[in-house]
Parts: sequence; structure tokens; C-alpha cells
Amino acid sequence: MSNNESPYKIYLNEDEMPKAWYNLRADMKNKPAPLLSPKTLKPITAEELSGVFCEELIKQELDDTTPSFEIPTEIRDFYKMFRPSPLVRAYCLEKKLGTPAKIYYKFEGNNTSGSHKLNSAVAQAYYAKKQGLKGVTTETGAGQWGTALSMACSYFDLECKVYMVKCSYEQKPFRREVMRTYGASVTPSPSMDTQIGREILKKFPGTSGSLGCAISEAVEVATNTEGYRYVLGSVLNQVLLHQTVIGLEAKTALDKYGEKADIIIGCAGGGSNLGGLISPFARDKIKGESDCRIIAVEPSSCPSLTRGKYAYDYCDTGMVCPLQKMYTLGSGYIPAASHAGGLRYHGMSSILSQLYDDGIMEAVSVKQTEVFKAAEEFARIEGILPAPESSHAIKVAIDEALKCKETGEEKTILFGLTGTGYFDMMSYEKFHDGIMTDYIPSDEEIQNSLDNLPKFDL
Ligand SMILES: *Cc1c(COP(=O)(O)O)cnc(C)c1O
Repeated sequence: MSNNESPYKIYLNEDEMPKAWYNLRADMKNKPAPLLSPKTLKPITAEELSGVFCEELIKQELDDTTPSFEIPTEIRDFYKMFRPSPLVRAYCLEKKLGTPAKIYYKFEGNNTSGSHKLNSAVAQAYYAKKQGLKGVTTETGAGQWGTALSMACSYFDLECKVYMVKCSYEQKPFRREVMRTYGASVTPSPSMDTQIGREILKKFPGTSGSLGCAISEAVEVATNTEGYRYVLGSVLNQVLLHQTVIGLEAKTALDKYGEKADIIIGCAGGGSNLGGLISPFARDKIKGESDCRIIAVEPSSCPSLTRGKYAYDYCDTGMVCPLQKMYTLGSGYIPAASHAGGLRYHGMSSILSQLYDDGIMEAVSVKQTEVFKAAEEFARIEGILPAPESSHAIKVAIDEALKCKETGEEKTILFGLTGTGYFDMMSYEKFHDGIMTDYIPSDEEIQNSLDNLPKFDL
């Protein structure tokens, strides 16, 4: 340990930024289970995926042996516009809590999309362009992913069609306008543009949509439009791979000051930011070089790790995407309308699912009213207005720091602050007005959904 107290913000120089993404799967003893084709229920081949995804991204998706993938210069140049992101020592929060713990957070909200999603969006848009494609489709729930992808597509001169869950489309008109500013077309989902959209609207005329349904629409349009492919902002291995820039930068910055993280905390929706943050630290843990704790935080309204089942499941409502083995609540599970839209997904990254099953990672669930309380406390002392999703990690970081206060342990805590909450002020309003509620699904509700998991022999 050096005596060099770290500054409030640790920035890296451009030449200290990672030149390759790190593929944790290469070092995992138990590899994540392979994706299965929804048609044959056999491990899916690159060829089967090629109608849906870009070629280079398929290679990254299926590769669990190559430890690192070089980041192309064009992507590194784009990264330089908003990276390296600062690693901040939360001195003010530490003082306020009166904890002997050191708290660091890696802040990913310093770009117009307001979240870490841009790290993968730019990579996916780059490979689509390189393949000579005309455009890409995607879904967006809360809107952060759609915004990030719109920015990346405009930079690489690609068309971008976004299917936005209808209730968000109506509730977050400003998100929609940001996407249109970057040239994307934004369609509320379910729509009349697709077969699946028309079917769903016929069955449920007044529906406000869901992420699973928007995915199915975006995939349908991509596979039926010449020169188009589909891209996804979380869950997949390739997305987690791109997000490792977060963890690699964080580790380099900590190393500069001789710091070792004892506890690493992140919010988990589909698992991409958390997976990216922890990858280099999990490598050390797997190799026996570190005994740090890794904690995934999920909303109690959508507890896929803490209350779901580790099984093969569909990634979307329309069951057109490959099946993935993961901790899941069932693809038919519709999470309650919580205020952290980015964490409302029924499943989890297969890499994180395996780490959790192997006991390398822990998981906890937290209620949204406690989350907003922590968010407000953080905003008032550290200045940054956090996204509701990110605030799940803040809540648990504060809890762990307070435990250190009781025991007098000087632990070093690192958490991922994935984004800012400017588009979430309606949620903050509900919290301030005291009308925010906590929804915790009953065991029966979860069991009913799990009963509908696909059943087959492998
Ligand atoms: C999308 C999002 C998340 C959750 O996604 P992961 O893939 O689990 O990282 C968390 N925070 C913010 C701000 C987001 O936009």
C-alpha cells in the first residue's frame, strides 16, 4: 500500500486506456453454457446467427477461449471523446457516513447518452458499418440504450430504427427527441409495422408494451430488411466484453495509488455494466490472487439472481432469439413498473449467472424506496444526480460502508455509477411526494412464471 492518498478524481492519460477488451470466459473454469437455437435446441452456429447479428460480433459472442480482443483504432478514437471516465474517491460521502472505509466509484454518466451503454453502442455500430450494412434495429425500454445507439450510428453514418416500449415513449418524450436529434427513427412498440406487433395489438389492444415484445419487433424488422441487422444493449457476451473498458480503467487507476478493492458492487439488469466492471477483478479471484467480494444488486421487483432459477430460457417474448442458460424469472414474467427501467429484465448475462452459481459473485435485492433514499443522499453530498438503476449500487455501497463503521474495518469499496438521472425526474417526484411504492412478487407469482420455462432434454 502506498502512502500516496488518492485525489478526488483519478483520470488516466489517453495512452493508459485499454487497447483490448478482456474476455473473462477465457479464464473461467466453468464456462457459461452455449446459446441454443430456438428451432433445433442445439448449440447455435455462427451461420444460424448471421441473419440476425453482425459477423464480427458473432465471433465475439461465441468465443470463450480468446483472452483479449484488440479494440480497433476507430473505436478507441471515439472512446477518447468521453473516456477515460473518472474514478472518483467519495471523500465527502465517507465523511458524512463517518466510515473508515474508502469508497470509490467509476462514473460512466459523462456522455450525452448519460450511461455506460455508449461503450458497446459504438463497438456494435462500428462492426455493422465495417460489414457494409445499411442500418441496425434495436429495442429500448427506459431509453438509454436507444440514445447511445443513435449517437453511435450517426457517428458512423448508419441508419438506426429504435422500437421503444410504448409506455416509455409516452412518458419520456425528451429521450425520444434526443434519439431523433441523432437521426434515429423511433417507433412505439407494439406497432403495426410488424407481424408480431400486429398480433400482440390484436390480442391486447390497450397494451403499453414490454421489452421482450420490443425485442421481437426489432428482430423481425432486421431480418426482413435488406442490409440490416439487429443489435442489443445488454445480456449478451459481446456487450459484456465491450463494457470491460470500465473495469480495466478502474483497475489501472486503483493500481496507480496502490489500492486494492475489497468489495466491488454494481447494479444488474442484464448484467453488462457489472460484468464489465468486475471482469479483471474476477480474473484475479479465479486465479486465487484476490479474495475480494463481488456483489450484484438487483431490484426486489425483478429478482432474477436472488429468486430466479438457473435454466435455459428465451431472451424475448416472441421466442425468436436464441435460448440462453441463465438465472431467470421466466420470459413471460412482466416485472412491475418500477422506476429503474434498465433493470426490468427477466434474465441475466450467462457469464454472471455462471459466476453466481460458482459462488464467485454474491447477489442482493433492494427495494426502490430505499434506493431513492440513497440516491438523494448521494446527490446531496457528492453532487451527481444518479440514475435510479445506478442508485441500486449506491444503496449497497452505503450499507457496506456503514458495516465498516460498526466493525472499524478500513475496507476499500468500489462501485459502478452507471449513469445520470435527468430523464427520471418523474420518478424522483413520486419519491418526494411520498407516493412511491415497493413491489415484491410473491413466491407463488414467481413459481407460476417458472412453471412455464421451456422443458426439454439436452
Ligand atoms: C441499462 C442500464 C443499466 C442496466 O444494464 P446492465 O446491462 O445490467 O448494465 C444500469 N444503469 C444504467 C444507467 C442503464 O442505462
